[in-house]
Amino acid sequence: MTQVFPTPAAHAREILAKLGAPPLPADAGEPVRGPIDGAILGHVVYDDARQIEAKVAAACRAFADWRVVPAPRRGELVRLFGEELRAAKADLAALVTLEAGKIASEAAGEVQEMIDICDFAVGLSRQLHGLTIASERPGHAMRETWHPLGPVAVISAFNFPVAVWAWNACLALVCGDPVIWKPSEKTPLTALATQAILERALARFRDAPQGLSSVVLGARDAGERLARDPRIPLVSATGSTRMGRAVAPMVAERFGRSILELGGNNAMIVTPSADLSLALRAIVFSAAGTAGQRCTSLRRLIVHESLVDKVSDAVEAAFQRLSVGDPRDPKTLLGPLIDKAAYDAFIAAMNQVRAEGGSVAGGERVLIDEHPDAYYVRPALARLPAPAPCMQRETFAPLLHVVPYNSFDMAIAIQNDVPQGLSSCVMTNDVREAERFLAAAGSDCGIANVNIGPSGAEIGGAFGGEKETGGGRESGSDSWKQYMRRQTATVNYSGALPLAQGVRFDL
Ligand code: NAD
Repeated sequence: MTQVFPTPAAHAREILAKLGAPPLPADAGEPVRGPIDGAILGHVVYDDARQIEAKVAAACRAFADWRVVPAPRRGELVRLFGEELRAAKADLAALVTLEAGKIASEAAGEVQEMIDICDFAVGLSRQLHGLTIASERPGHAMRETWHPLGPVAVISAFNFPVAVWAWNACLALVCGDPVIWKPSEKTPLTALATQAILERALARFRDAPQGLSSVVLGARDAGERLARDPRIPLVSATGSTRMGRAVAPMVAERFGRSILELGGNNAMIVTPSADLSLALRAIVFSAAGTAGQRCTSLRRLIVHESLVDKVSDAVEAAFQRLSVGDPRDPKTLLGPLIDKAAYDAFIAAMNQVRAEGGSVAGGERVLIDEHPDAYYVRPALARLPAPAPCMQRETFAPLLHVVPYNSFDMAIAIQNDVPQGLSSCVMTNDVREAERFLAAAGSDCGIANVNIGPSGAEIGGAFGGEKETGGGRESGSDSWKQYMRRQTATVNYSGALPLAQGVRFDL
């Protein structure tokens, strides 16, 4: 018996009301379409220039107050937010499913990631420590201190509609910075819901300044307005490389700082010593999970020539078995593509594979009769005899390219020979191969895994990638330093005035 779900639009409104988000306008403003059935989930009204200006001005005022609140007290706000997120987890995850099309377990995982970064940030709020440094001058003390930076703009993509904001916002808040969020125009409802959840925490915290966190609704022009604003010292932008190419010079021109988290084109090397059953599970999850719409999705499979047919056949068979359908159905492993543009790009990419001498298995559109305005597809496996131009681009859909290699040097060369540098992995039980992959002449990516697929990072590490992926790092490790300004201070307690480097300037 097929499960009957409420219409996505009715369900989305119900969740927004439950979470205390402001009511959506009846049908004025911009329509937000859900990927499950392609129908309109609701409308939102974009902020105009005056409203954006007011939100930035409020963030600047909030900064003056927030930066002098002791960091552990700022952490208390994030601790309360984590509590509110735990209480709202199921509802927010359901909204992620409705608006971004993620299956229930992945949507819950996305909200869990928000909770995890809250916990991380709370701990961090007591560890924003600097250094003491040996001074070369007698009777002098030198130290390095980290101070709050200022309002942070977060521009986010549709595919992690809430977690990426949380990575940035939780660190920014404990670092003493207000946050202005411009979510993807494809997923504004989850942003409004998240802001409502944060406002509950703000109400419990009591004395947080107005304007500490705001949401700017709009498309790229709203993002550009934030990128150009000299009052915003840091712009953290997640999305396509095309977006980063536009945003980076706008921020640089005014000497702002940017964190760019852009497209990936992630690879896995499967070596002769690999545990093939483990590799197969990693391949299928990372290539087809989230319908191939993760920045870390597996897009290129580089398999030793002795195994390439065996591995390709197994992946093709596994792809065929995956259940594609309504992401609310617990049996579904592959939900829909976000929209028609994503489907068109998928078709174009498969055509390019064929034009360049490859063959494609799978990739059919399904559920057309049930959902003529939604885009459900079977994952596609593209077999190529050698690397081809079609493998240079990120196609944000479940399309996996396979090529053979004959030496480990060649495998690493293929892995690195793309403009992007986000995530990478090797499947091997040979310690020498594993270490070579992780060494200076190995993978050139920001993320390099052994016996794990390229997707599904933990928040404890710094997340991001090289080359056209933008070079930014977010989330764990010492990423917090980007949300603060570094100050080197030297104090003279000697009564004399010795100059550095032995310089003499006798009056
Ligand atoms: P997108 O580039 O279309 O949009 C991302 C965000 O940027 C949206 O909020 C959009 O309004 C804004 N934007 C677009 N052009 C802009 C401009 N000129 N100025 C200012 N803002 C602008 O990306 P998408 O389709 O939402 O997301 C998919 C892409 O995001 C993929 O390429 C994926 O790899 C990438 N992504 C990267 C990471 C990462 O951490 N590296 C994470 C998630 C997604």
